[in-house]
Amino acid sequence: TFPQSNLLQQLPKQFFASLVQKVNAVIAEGHDVINLGQGNPDQPTPAHIVNAMQQAVAKPAYHKYSPFRGYSFLKEAVATFYKREYGVTIDPEKEVAILFGGKAGLVEMPLCLLNPGDVVLVPDPGYPDYWSGVVLARARMEMMPLRAENDFLPDYEELNKDVVRQAKLMFLNYPNNPTGATATESFFKETVSFAETYGIAVVHDFAYGAIGFDGKKPVSFLQVEGAKDVGIEIYTFSKTYNMAGWRIGFAVGNESMIEAINVLQDHLYVSMFGAIQEAAAVALLQSQQCVDELVATYEARRNTFIRALNDIGWNVQAPAGSFFAWLPVPEGYTSETFANLLLEQAHVAVAPGIGFGEHGEGYVRTGLLTSEERLKEAAERIGRLQLF
Ligand code: PLP
Repeated sequence: TFPQSNLLQQLPKQFFASLVQKVNAVIAEGHDVINLGQGNPDQPTPAHIVNAMQQAVAKPAYHKYSPFRGYSFLKEAVATFYKREYGVTIDPEKEVAILFGGKAGLVEMPLCLLNPGDVVLVPDPGYPDYWSGVVLARARMEMMPLRAENDFLPDYEELNKDVVRQAKLMFLNYPNNPTGATATESFFKETVSFAETYGIAVVHDFAYGAIGFDGKKPVSFLQVEGAKDVGIEIYTFSKTYNMAGWRIGFAVGNESMIEAINVLQDHLYVSMFGAIQEAAAVALLQSQQCVDELVATYEARRNTFIRALNDIGWNVQAPAGSFFAWLPVPEGYTSETFANLLLEQAHVAVAPGIGFGEHGEGYVRTGLLTSEERLKEAAERIGRLQLF
């Protein structure tokens, strides 16, 4: 056996791998576990996208290496999508990079822009994959606390100015995993001026861009004037079109950041399977009714689940977007001891907040990724423990 490099050994441990093990152990004992701990969309890819893929697979042109940096038809579809959905004008050749899933772009970005020791501002709690690229780039992570009293938006004023002056890159994510919070246009305006002042490149993770509730469409970072001068937005097909297994996404925005991603990807990959790109273009360009239905489904689940939790006396807030609910842990428990209790005694799996960072302590994350019936049953099982 060969030891892994020092760099690989520094990568954060996959905190949720141990959760999966625990859940499997309880299932192996014969229990019916309602698993709200993961973030894997439960519904199939819309049929018209699958059909487009089936037809595209048969085209011999796609059986060869496809163009470096993606087909122009897909980049043009991305530009059309941003214009139609957000009123944002994008140059398809200079301001779009095709990604192997949003995660790839998020991990690549620090490698594209940072030198060892550079500082990256990372939301806490936040999606743990932001940490991986920072470690691989030998950069330094500084946490931006997201607090309930500030609507889970970072407060730039509270950050240490010496640290901010060293920052080169910053991650943001709204609608937010894990808190379900959404951003306002005024927050993004403040972000642009903060980033301009300190010369920080912004990476806005818009993975849940399609999923906003109560008729409020989530705001794109690029909608704000000057955003393209300071940052990019990373979008994925995984959530909007239930295409998590397909591994495709894209980055849009700042030309120099897009060029850097493309340079790195020229060295990592040759190109992406053309048939997937064709199906992805169909997803962006054809009817978005499937997306409306998806959002309606998540909203109905959210309403049922939050109502059921409030009914058992658990005082929780409804998320404004994403497909997660972020629930405060009752007194006397940590996020981990509480998650263990729910798994062992109610057979309901939830993700402990501490897995998303220090400021995630005191919460558990639940996914709205099962039927309303099962969500209601999860709440009832928890109710029987008489904790509230
Ligand atoms: N960003 C956030 C906040 C996510 O929750 C996820 C997936 O769970 C992703 C990015 C990455 O999605 P993908 O790599 O499937 O595009």
